[in-house]
Amino acid sequence: MSEHRPGPVVDTTASRHARLRPVAPRDVRITDDFWAPRLRRNREVTIPAQHAQCTQTGALRNFQRAAGSVGGDFSGRYYSDSDVYKWIEAASWSLSTDPSPELTDRLDAVIKLVAGAQDTDGYLNTYFSVDRVGQRWTDLVVRHEMYCVGHLVAAAVAHVRATGDTALLDVAVRAVTHIAQRFAPGEVPGACGHPGLEMALVELYRTTGDERWLTLAGWQLDSRGTGVLDGSEYLVDHEPVRSQTRVTGHAVRALYLYAGMADVVLETGDPQLRHALDRLWADLAGGKTAITGGVGARWDGEAFGDAYELPDRSYNETCAAIAHIFLAWRMLLLTGEAQYRDAVETALHNGVLPGLSLTGTEFFYQNPLADSGRHRRAEWFSCACCPPNIARLLASLPGYLYTTTDEGIQVQLYIGNRAELRLADGTPVRLDLATGLPWRGTVALSVQPAAPAEFTLSLPVPGWAGAQVEVRVNGEPVRPERTEGRLALRRTWRPGDRVELTLGTAVRTLVTHPRVAATHHRAALARGPLVYCLEQADQPGTAVADIRLTGAESWTVEDRPELLGGVCALTADARAVPADDGPLYRPYPGVPAAGADVPVTAIPYYAWANRQPGEMRVFIPLA
Ligand SMILES: [Zn+2]
Repeated sequence: MSEHRPGPVVDTTASRHARLRPVAPRDVRITDDFWAPRLRRNREVTIPAQHAQCTQTGALRNFQRAAGSVGGDFSGRYYSDSDVYKWIEAASWSLSTDPSPELTDRLDAVIKLVAGAQDTDGYLNTYFSVDRVGQRWTDLVVRHEMYCVGHLVAAAVAHVRATGDTALLDVAVRAVTHIAQRFAPGEVPGACGHPGLEMALVELYRTTGDERWLTLAGWQLDSRGTGVLDGSEYLVDHEPVRSQTRVTGHAVRALYLYAGMADVVLETGDPQLRHALDRLWADLAGGKTAITGGVGARWDGEAFGDAYELPDRSYNETCAAIAHIFLAWRMLLLTGEAQYRDAVETALHNGVLPGLSLTGTEFFYQNPLADSGRHRRAEWFSCACCPPNIARLLASLPGYLYTTTDEGIQVQLYIGNRAELRLADGTPVRLDLATGLPWRGTVALSVQPAAPAEFTLSLPVPGWAGAQVEVRVNGEPVRPERTEGRLALRRTWRPGDRVELTLGTAVRTLVTHPRVAATHHRAALARGPLVYCLEQADQPGTAVADIRLTGAESWTVEDRPELLGGVCALTADARAVPADDGPLYRPYPGVPAAGADVPVTAIPYYAWANRQPGEMRVFIPLA
C-alpha cells in the first residue's frame, strides 16, 4: 500500500489559473495559545457533541430508515443530511491533524450508514426516501437535493484527502453521476435553490481528475438566469451569472455560488466569469460587509440589503461569514491580492469566532452588532447549518496559514504554528512561527530548510498594521520590498535563520462611509485583527446605552488573563450622557449633550454573550 499524502482544503496545486498553491492541514500544527486551545476544544468537545446532536435529532437515524433497517418517520428538515456530511468533514480534517482511533471508528460507522442509504441508481437524500421517492427532483427551488449532495461530495473529498480512504468518495461519485445523468450538461438545465454543489464538484474534479465534474459545475452556473429557479433574484436566478453586478438574495447561497464560480475560474480562466467575480466582490466589499466581516444584513430572508444598508442589528449569519471566507480564500488563490487575505482574517476573527461560545458547545446563528441582552447562543438549532459549519472550518484551519508558489512560501495568517512545507523543487522547509497576535503585533519565524536554499519568504502586512512595520533577519534590520500588502524577503535561507516582525497594533477608532445611515455619528473600536465592543458586564454604574465617545480617548491596553478566557481589554475615560425623561422627539439642540467622564472597558466582539446577559454595542455614539 502506498503511503497516503494528505491534501489541502481547496486544492489548486494543479489549477492552471491559480497564482498560489495551498498546503495540507496535516502539514501545519497550530501551537499558539489563542487558536490551539480552540482547535483542541473543537476536537474534544464540539465534534463529539455534534455527533450526539446528529444522533438525538434523528439525522443519523434517517440514513438507517432510508436503508430500510428501521421504520418510523423522517426526522428534522429536508436538508438534515447536510448536518451529518458537515460533521464527517469536520471529523476528517480533525483526524488529519490529530489521529484518534475512537473518532476513526465513529466516522467509519457514520460513513457506513450513509453508504447504506444510497439507492442503486446513485440517488442519495434521506428525505426523499421510503414514502417520498416519487417526489425526487420535483422542486429544485426549495428542497435542497443538490445542496445536500454538495455537502456529501465536500465531506468525501475531505475524507479522502485527510485519510486516504475512498469509501465515501465512491458514494459521492455515484451520487453526482446520477445528477449528471438527470441534468446532463448542454441538455437539461439544473441548479439548486441552495448552491454549494458547484464548489464541491470542482473539488471532486481536482481529486479524481475526471473532467465531467468540472463540466457539470460550469453547467450548473450557466443554468442560472434561465428561469430554472423561477427567475428568483433571492435565489440568484434573475440574470446569468456572467453578467451579474450586485450581490443579492440569501447571503450564504449567493456566496457559496460565487465561491463555486471562483473555483471554475481557477481551472478554466473563463474571462467573463472572472470579470463578474471582480464586480461582485467590489459590490460586496464596497457596501455590503459588516465591520466584522459578517454579511447578509437583512433578517428578512437572511439576505443582502442594498448598498450601505448595514444596520446595527444586522443578521450576519455565522454561515455567511464562513461563505465569505470560502469566496475570499479562492479569490486569494486566484490573484494573490492582499484584500482577500485581509477579508479572510477579519471574517475569521470577528465574523465566525463569535458564533462559538468559549465553552465550544453553544452557537450563534445571527451575529448582530448591538443587542439588549436577549440574543444568546444555543446548543443546536432546528435549522442546524451553523454549528457544524464552524466545526469543519476550525478543523481545517491549519490549511489556511500558508500558500506556496514557484518563488517560495507565503505566510497568510499570523497564527502560531510549526509547519513542514516543501519548495517547488521538493526541498523540505520547516517553519516555526511564534506570535503574540491577536494581542501583540510580534511575529518570530524560524526558517529551517533541509539545505541552504534560495527562495522568497513573503509576509503579509495586514491593513490594520498601517505603516508601522519593522523587520529583522538574524537580528539585523532589513527594508524588504513592500508591494500589494506584502513584504518579500528573498535570499538564500539557511537552517536556523530567524525573521522578526513587529506590526503596529494601535487602537483604531473607526467610522463608516457617510452613506451608511444606521451607524452615522458612531464609532467602533478595533485593535490588530479584532473588532471590540462594549458589554454591560464591564461597565458597572454606567448603562452601555449612555456611553459616548469623543474620538480623543486615550486607550490603555490591559492584559486580562482572568477575563473571558484571557483577553486584552481596552480601557479609557469616555463620556456618559444619562437618559433624561424628556419627550421621545425634540428640537435639535445644535450642541453636544453634557455628560460626565466615566471609565469604560471594551472587550473583543468574539467574546460577548459569555457572561450574564446585558446590553452590547460595537458602534458607540459619538458625543
Ligand atoms: Zn448557518
